[in-house]
Amino acid sequence: MQEMLRKRLIDALADCRVRACPDAELDEQPRLDACADENEFASRVVEVGMHLALRRRLEERRGEIEAALKRLDRGCYGDCEECGEEIGLARLMANPTAQLCVYCQADSERGQLRRCA
Ligand SMILES: [Zn+2]
Repeated sequence: MQEMLRKRLIDALADCRVRACPDAELDEQPRLDACADENEFASRVVEVGMHLALRRRLEERRGEIEAALKRLDRGCYGDCEECGEEIGLARLMANPTAQLCVYCQADSERGQLRRCA
């Protein structure tokens, strides 16, 4: 069953690469002189910003997937990083890059909420 999850992780990694690549030209900074007017410039700034945000999310996702593959190689995949208990197959199937068991995840989300408040 770990081999199946490994395959899913590798597929997801390939998917990130494909999605990060095709519109590489959007990486260029928006150039004011290439735009008809300020409105076009403004919308291009938004467009590039959204693209960069998407790319950052893909990079993060790729990092998570690579970390999960490393854990698979080390043989500690599926162990909660917080309490060391098994994360559980159902959770891993839903989210193969999960690093915390459902209890520790809930704890950490509560902690984040407290920090925000
Ligand atoms: Zn845990």
